[in-house]
Amino acid sequence: MAELPDKATRLIEWYLDVVEAAQLTDKRYGVKGMNVWTPYGFQARRQLDAVMIREIEATGSVPVEFPTLIPQTEFQKEKDHIKGFDAQVYWVTRGGATPLDIPLVLRPTSETAMYPVFALWVRSHRDLPLNVYQIVNTFRYETKTTRPFIRVREIHFFEEHTCQVDEAAATARVASNLAAFAGMARAFVLPFLAIRRPEWDKFPGAFYSVALDIPIGGARTLQIGSIHHYRENFSGPYGIRYEAADGAQRLVHQTTFGLSERLLGAVVAVHGDQKGAVFPPALAPCQVVVIPIPGKPGAPDPTPAARALAAELTARGLRVEVDLSEERPGAKYYRHELRGVPLRLEIGAREAAAGTATAVDRLGQKRLLGPQGLAEAVVRALSDFEQALREAAEARFAAAFSVARSLSELKGSSRVRVLRWCGAEACGREVETAIDGSLLGTPEGPLPFPVEGEGGCIACGSTAGTRWALAAQPL
Ligand SMILES: [Zn+2]
Repeated sequence: MAELPDKATRLIEWYLDVVEAAQLTDKRYGVKGMNVWTPYGFQARRQLDAVMIREIEATGSVPVEFPTLIPQTEFQKEKDHIKGFDAQVYWVTRGGATPLDIPLVLRPTSETAMYPVFALWVRSHRDLPLNVYQIVNTFRYETKTTRPFIRVREIHFFEEHTCQVDEAAATARVASNLAAFAGMARAFVLPFLAIRRPEWDKFPGAFYSVALDIPIGGARTLQIGSIHHYRENFSGPYGIRYEAADGAQRLVHQTTFGLSERLLGAVVAVHGDQKGAVFPPALAPCQVVVIPIPGKPGAPDPTPAARALAAELTARGLRVEVDLSEERPGAKYYRHELRGVPLRLEIGAREAAAGTATAVDRLGQKRLLGPQGLAEAVVRALSDFEQALREAAEARFAAAFSVARSLSELKGSSRVRVLRWCGAEACGREVETAIDGSLLGTPEGPLPFPVEGEGGCIACGSTAGTRWALAAQPL
């Protein structure tokens, strides 16, 4: 296998090679942007889903599943929404040879599938809040260059949809979603920014949108999810009303929270290196690989010791493989590094006899474990690896930003820019022109790093309503 392209200078080529070489995807399927989930990739996705489910259900959300096809008549009820998605939808227009009376949309997202039914479910204030989520495939006719996990036409989509009594309750739900995402991001070891998008870049039909962004090298960022406050923008057209305690009929306020397999792509892009993928333990399809290393002819076989240790680790809930393939040890190390396995245990004749194992984590940290408390030592080594991965990711995150005080400083930096912005679109557009990128918006809450001094808008100098903002080149 050829060497991987240099990650620092050729991120995209590096990424495309890694996801294939690590056997996370097979992109040879005959429809652009529709990747095949391989056994290894599917296992990674299953762990991704497990973390999303754990965190969202802890906030009181319950799973549902709505149909894939949406009647055109329902799809068109919210006019900004339809305008935003019109160019991206796939249509089903025939049943066999018969043209359908009402064409059907292959869901690009599920507002228009769910909300006519929510209008039937929600009757009284006692039915609220309604917090439901589904993990389903959605479809978007993506016209930009597709990339496995990052920009696809068939999306493995997590979407939460909620109905709340009023605007304040919906705002609180946005905060609750942010906290749930922080839990997910911690498990995936992904330092992130929550940024309120400018008006011109919000989700079609939303009152406001909060995007979850990560720096991805240089001035580039990747949006890995979003949370939207809809106010009554959808509940009006879809008639989602409830009887309040005082007997009045009121429209619900709604929110949504969307994530996808892009998180998996983000994990590969953030943690991977010149040897391949690097999985944090929570996401790793295989957390520990045990490799018996045969000695000279006649030496005792270390395989039984390797199997016994793997069984003990499995019993402790770890995802473990024993590699008994015919390859030479060096070739095995290379392959498991490429796949991003967090921890490798080597057991030769000497280790087998002593009840020990040589552990090498995916960042190259090597140590001899055992014989006392060998299984506990493996669990500790895995947790030490996660800590080291976190420190490295946080150090890169902290170094990803630069503060710009003038438009000329904006142009000169190859990092994600932090700047002062008055909120006017004209000034935002000036920023975008200066960096040939996007004004991401203003952070929800404080900046995740300290910045000295404040001052006026970088474009017009005004101090009225001026706040910190971020600008970057989104991938
Ligand atoms: Zn301004």
